[in-house]
Amino acid sequence: MTRLLFAASEAVPLVKTGGLADVAGALPAALIALGVDVRVVLPAYRGCLDKLEAPTVIGAMTVRGQSFRIWEGRLAGSPVIHWLVDYAPLYGRDGDPYHDPQHRPWSDNAWRFGCFCEAVARLAAGEGSGGWKPDVVHCHDWQTGLVPAWLKLRMAGPRAVFTIHNLAYGGLFPRAAFESLGLPPGWWSIDGLEFYGQMSFLKAGLVYSDVITTVSPRYADEIRTPAFGCGFEGVLDKLSARVHGILNGIDTDAWNPATDAQLAQTYSSSTLKAGKLANRHALQDELRLPRDEAMTVVGMIGRLTDQKGFDLVVAALPELMKLPVQLAILGAGDKALEAELAIAATRYPGRIGLKLGYDDQLARRIEAGSDLFLMPSRFEPCGLNQMYSQRYGTVPVVHRVGGLADTVVDATPRTLKNGTATGVVFEDADVGGIVYGVSRGVELMHDPIARIGLQHSGMSRDFSWAASARQYLALYR
Ligand code: ADP
Repeated sequence: MTRLLFAASEAVPLVKTGGLADVAGALPAALIALGVDVRVVLPAYRGCLDKLEAPTVIGAMTVRGQSFRIWEGRLAGSPVIHWLVDYAPLYGRDGDPYHDPQHRPWSDNAWRFGCFCEAVARLAAGEGSGGWKPDVVHCHDWQTGLVPAWLKLRMAGPRAVFTIHNLAYGGLFPRAAFESLGLPPGWWSIDGLEFYGQMSFLKAGLVYSDVITTVSPRYADEIRTPAFGCGFEGVLDKLSARVHGILNGIDTDAWNPATDAQLAQTYSSSTLKAGKLANRHALQDELRLPRDEAMTVVGMIGRLTDQKGFDLVVAALPELMKLPVQLAILGAGDKALEAELAIAATRYPGRIGLKLGYDDQLARRIEAGSDLFLMPSRFEPCGLNQMYSQRYGTVPVVHRVGGLADTVVDATPRTLKNGTATGVVFEDADVGGIVYGVSRGVELMHDPIARIGLQHSGMSRDFSWAASARQYLALYR
């Protein structure tokens, strides 16, 4: 039986800022179903320990002079065993895993995650783990990038798989951070983790792992080009033989309109029309949008960063507002963008329903209550909301990029006719592209046959983790 240590900086339901948490929450369970023996390891952020049932301390270690404790526990009803690396001065803080409560990155992030990586590598070698040793360590994004490097140093240790969820976060820090972490001086090189005069945690993950994966096949190709490579395209091109694209799945139990307790009314494809209408009305009421049947409700949810293209939507508003649409927007992040969205919402009363903040429950009601779901991301490693949308009978309108291109089938006369169309895919992440995509979506919503065809083929797609988990297992082996 393969023993797997799965190291991440967030996982639902313990802690979540983005899609990585959904993946780390669902993929381990899918692997267990295939017979893999899994431990998921995370830092013990404030509040995480309370979410585990009867946690116990299984070990301890001193990392750079700090006394870390290792807790083991399970979530109620889950087969997954979690390990939490506990050292309150570094991890037990208010704010999110990466930012203080004012959304400024913690100034000691290199130290926080550097020490976490060292602890994970030592756990993988059997220290503080109660004797359990993995065959493979699966690391995710820059926060775990130093784990493969530490493992490589031991030579005989477990093999490392490193998954890129988002190349835009290189985990870049000044050379002083490299020195403070006690890393071997030889690693400071172009073939190691030096990146244009800085240290990159992510590059360490790429260079020192045995296998690299990204979360969609198209993104695996895109990141080898200057347009998407964020400066890592050269390294990735060199390592291309070990780069694999495996599409993320979604947790089809957690995201199921037939059982979702947050919805005004649950529904399935056989009760779609009434279910969607009830949820649409509830959403309009909640976001103070009039129940105007002539309007198409367009949902948007996401982190407010350049990547997601909310700024493009703001720029497109004068044109978009000429269309019969209401926007239902949920987002948090960049403060300037939050302010711009708030101003836009007051400028177009009754047309934009906006909630700034992180709200998992409203996210579900937007998925259920919207007609269209807009994702104009400039780049998108995989994206989950377009899959959640399809599962909820909401038609995604997406930029043809990364995982969006891999998971949404554009509505053309041919795909509409053969029943494979599930959404609208537009070519350019700019004002013109967005206005074109949304108008096309609105047109399709007014064509009852096209609308129902798109909804049903979206709802019948299988986005569950089973197939992807099998691909990961093959790579581990
Ligand atoms: P990313 O990982 O780049 O943020 P994904 O589409 O892969 O993008 O995953 C984002 C996940 O986080 C989705 O489950 C989405 O619903 C959720 N999410 C993002 N922002 C918010 C928010 N403000 N409130 C609730 N959920 C959010």
